[in-house]
This record gives sequence, structure tokens and C-alpha cells, in this order.
Amino acid sequence: MTQSIASIPETHSDWRALAERLSVEEDLEARAYIDDSFVDAASGETFTTLNPATGETLAEVASCDAADAEAAAGVARRAFEDGAWSRSSPGERKAVLLRLADLMEEHQHELALLDSLDMGKPVSSAMGDMAGAIGCIRHHAESIDKLYGEIAPTGEDSLGLVMREPLGVVASIVPWNFPLMMTAWKIGPALAAGNSVILKPSEKSPLSALRLAKLTREAGLPRGVFQVLPGFGHTVGKALALSMDVDCLAFTGSTGVGKQLMQYAGQSNLKKVFLECGGKSPNVIFADCKDLDRVAEHAAGAIFHNQGEVCIAGSRLLVENAIREVFVDKVLAAAERMQPGDPLDPASFMGAMVDQTQYQRVLDYIRQGVEEGATLRTGGQALNVGGANGQGLFIGPTVFDGVTESMAIGREEIFGPVLAVFGFDTEEEAVRLANDSDYGLAAGLWSQDIDRIMRVTRRLRSGQVFVNNWADMDQTVPFGGVKQSGNGRDKSHHSLEEYSDLKTVWISLTPSP
Ligand code: NAD
Repeated sequence: MTQSIASIPETHSDWRALAERLSVEEDLEARAYIDDSFVDAASGETFTTLNPATGETLAEVASCDAADAEAAAGVARRAFEDGAWSRSSPGERKAVLLRLADLMEEHQHELALLDSLDMGKPVSSAMGDMAGAIGCIRHHAESIDKLYGEIAPTGEDSLGLVMREPLGVVASIVPWNFPLMMTAWKIGPALAAGNSVILKPSEKSPLSALRLAKLTREAGLPRGVFQVLPGFGHTVGKALALSMDVDCLAFTGSTGVGKQLMQYAGQSNLKKVFLECGGKSPNVIFADCKDLDRVAEHAAGAIFHNQGEVCIAGSRLLVENAIREVFVDKVLAAAERMQPGDPLDPASFMGAMVDQTQYQRVLDYIRQGVEEGATLRTGGQALNVGGANGQGLFIGPTVFDGVTESMAIGREEIFGPVLAVFGFDTEEEAVRLANDSDYGLAAGLWSQDIDRIMRVTRRLRSGQVFVNNWADMDQTVPFGGVKQSGNGRDKSHHSLEEYSDLKTVWISLTPSP
């Protein structure tokens, strides 16, 4: 889809028109990208990717497996050894990656549209993802030629140099909830550091990654440095994770799969594995917080944004009992304004659930919450959204009050628009409840008392703590979790550290005679 400035979509009908103009030849590339070419899977197998808002088929996509993984790993290894990218100067890599960011910006509407159609997210939210993805690539491009090595403080008769070198072949395995943004968070620093990258997008959202592959070629990435293998986790994903030619697995996805990847690394070549996994994030509201209406709006947005399909969704709302009743009423009022709509309508706050499996899983959790005795205050049902075609997988904002720690809806990651409200009376109880989770990805804290804020912040076991906001972010700050939420960091200079090794060079100097 060649897009002129005049055709920038703004309204619902603009986006619908753009979706209708999607051309299978130009935009919906559905083959794998291996060794600079778009090819069918070696087996010839394909899988169907659907639009969950309408049930319509978008494309039949190449279903890669172990044969494709080994072919791509061989290509990536050769590209790495050849050095056209891995031994190029940081300045040269910067120029190519800045070109890539410019191309992504030029094509941001079609990339956003592909993500929206493929996984059901509102197109306005997908446009926000594009800004994050483009900013990420630019940030790492701009950073890479400003990083210096170190000279260790040894004695005069030696020189200890500490150099950073790329790891080799990186397999990036990503989820479907922010398809292109998660991809950018992984490939930006990996490519900037000089690695060869094989991307495995989720089988639920492969289209924007394949479109991106075309742009990497146009940007001038050397042959074999970036490849895309669509397909399933248990086939091509597992093969990449077990490959002796892959040096690093950079993963974003569920905790269960993250644990499997560590096993695969142990069974193969002890490849480096860094993981960004699931969450069940607490959002703690103290009675002294300012402007309850604003806080309630944020608390609702923290769970209902992207249909709750967000790793850092504020899915556990911990409210001081003194304000609980009034606060929950305000959250319900905010939820009412966040109903799902046609994802192609820029006014829609929520879209469709990604697929039938996830849709059913969320409805099953809701049923379980009712059975376990939590109070369903709103939502809980599948919805028929008119703007789509009535065949979509929509679930409205759902709020349970009176949730306890023993209930599944209070402990497990649902990954849908379901909020579990707990009450607490003291700061000590709030900290205990917040930390009572296998996960440690994000936590929110709302209070006007700076002493309390710092006391509680220090005690929360969480990769990030949002104080008087939810999910304010910037490319300059690292993103990642503790406990079973993962062991890596995306974004910022710190993510470059994940994609390089330290080499120590010890030089003995002859003392002066
Ligand atoms: P998932 O773990 O099912 O899949 C993630 C990716 O792993 C997909 O590409 C999938 O095909 C692949 N995969 C699955 N099984 C595999 C195997 N055996 N070997 C190799 N690869 C395999 O997760 P999902 O459903 O795509 O995404 C939702 C999860 O992602 C949630 O738990 C969410 O919290 C998490 N997530 C975390 C972050 C973060 O930054 N911490 C961000 C987004 C999503």
C-alpha cells in the first residue's frame, strides 16, 4: 500500500478504507524471510491467521519448522562470521538502523493496521505501539556509536581492556499482544550490537513482522542478518531454542514457556536466555491519594487497555478499605466508558480478544471467579460489537470485588479485561498482599505521603514501580521483571548489555629499564 501524506487515515471510515485496500501482493507477505528471500516453509505447510474482530481469514502463512530453523540458523551464522554487519563500525550500523526507523515511520499506518487486524487491538492503540517501536529503533541506533569500552584500573605494568562484542546469532521469540513493539524492543538492541537476528513472531500475529522484513531489506541490512520464521512455538520456536547455532534466546511471553526455554538451553549449548514473562501486577491505592476520580480512571485504564492483554496490566487492585466502596464505584463508572468497539474505529478503547482460545480462557476465569465467591460488579459477558460484523471475540470490562488470595482470579495471570479488587487496612497488609505473587513485573502506588511512598516502594518486589501513575514510560528507562516475571531488561542502554559479551584483554607491559 503506497501511502501519500494526503491519505493518512484519521476517521473510522478512513481506516476501513485502508483495510479494504490492503493488497495481498504488497502488504500481506505471508512467506518466511530466509537469506534475503521470501520463501514457503520447507514442508510447504501453512496456517491461517484470522481477524478476531470479524472472524475473517487474513492470510495463509508459512508454517516453519525445524528444517527452516536450521536453515536460517546456518544463514545467520555465516552472516555473522562474514562480518558485513558484525564487524561493521557502530556508525555504519547506526546509519542503517536510522534508515529502518524512517521507513517504519513512513509505513506506520499499514504496520499499525496489520497489528490491529491480526490481533484485534484498537488501531489507535496500535499507532501508539508504532511510536514506541520506531523510537526504540532510533534510540539504539543513536546509542551504539556512543558506547565506550573500559580500561581496568590495574597496575602500571599491565593494561586491562574490557571490550564489548556481539553474541553471534540471536533468536527473538515474541508474543502477540504488542506484535511490532515487542519485536522492536528485541531486535533494536540486538542488531545495534552487531548480532544476526532470527525473529519468530507469534503464530497469532505474524503479519507485521513479515512486512518489517521487507523494510529491513530496503534499509540496507546485509544479507542474512535479519530473518523471520513464522510458525508455532512447539515446532519452529522449539527448534530455534535447541539449535547449536543459536547463541542467545531473547524471549517475551508466558512464564511457562520461559521455563521451557531455559531447559532447551541446558539441553543444547547453554545459550544465553533472557526472559520477559507474565505478571499479576498490584495497583495499591491508599486513602490519602489525591483526586479519586483521576486515580480511578487510571486504575481502570491499567487493566482495560489493550483488552487486558498486557503483561503489566494492573490486574490486582488493592484499595484501602476506608475508601474502597466509593473508589470501586468510580472504577465502575470509568469502566463503563471503556467498552470495546470495532478496532478500526479510532474512538474504541478496547478491541477484540486475540483468538478463540484466549477468549474462552478469559470467560472460564470469569465463571471460576463467580464460583469461588467473588462479587461480580460489572461485565463478565461476551459482547456482540456492532461496528465489526457481529462475529468478533469481544468481552466487556469486568470487575470483581471481594477477591481473596486463594482465588484463581486473584493469583493467576488471566490476560484479559478482568480486574480483581482486594481491600486492606494497613500499609503492612498492603505490602504483604502486593508481594504475595509468583510474579514481580510492575506495581502501582498512589499516595501523597512521600515517606510512605518510599517505604513501600523499597519493599515491593517488582521490576518497576509506578508512583502516582500507571505505566508512564520512556525508551530511556529499562523494562523487565523479577521473580517469575523474568530475568532480562528491554529498552534503555541496559538492554544493549543483554546482547553483548564482555571480552577482557590483558596486555603485559615491559617496565621501563
Ligand atoms: P506464549 O509464551 O504462549 O508465546 C510466546 C512466544 O513463544 C510465541 O511466539 C510462541 O509461539 C512461542 N512459543 C510457545 N511455545 C514455545 C516453545 N515450546 N518453544 C519455543 N517457543 C515457544 O505467550 P503469548 O500467549 O504469546 O503471550 C502472552 C504472555 O506474554 C503473557 O504471559 C504476557 O504476560 C507475556 N508478555 C510479557 C511481556 C514482558 O515484557 N514481560 C510483554 C508482553 C507479553
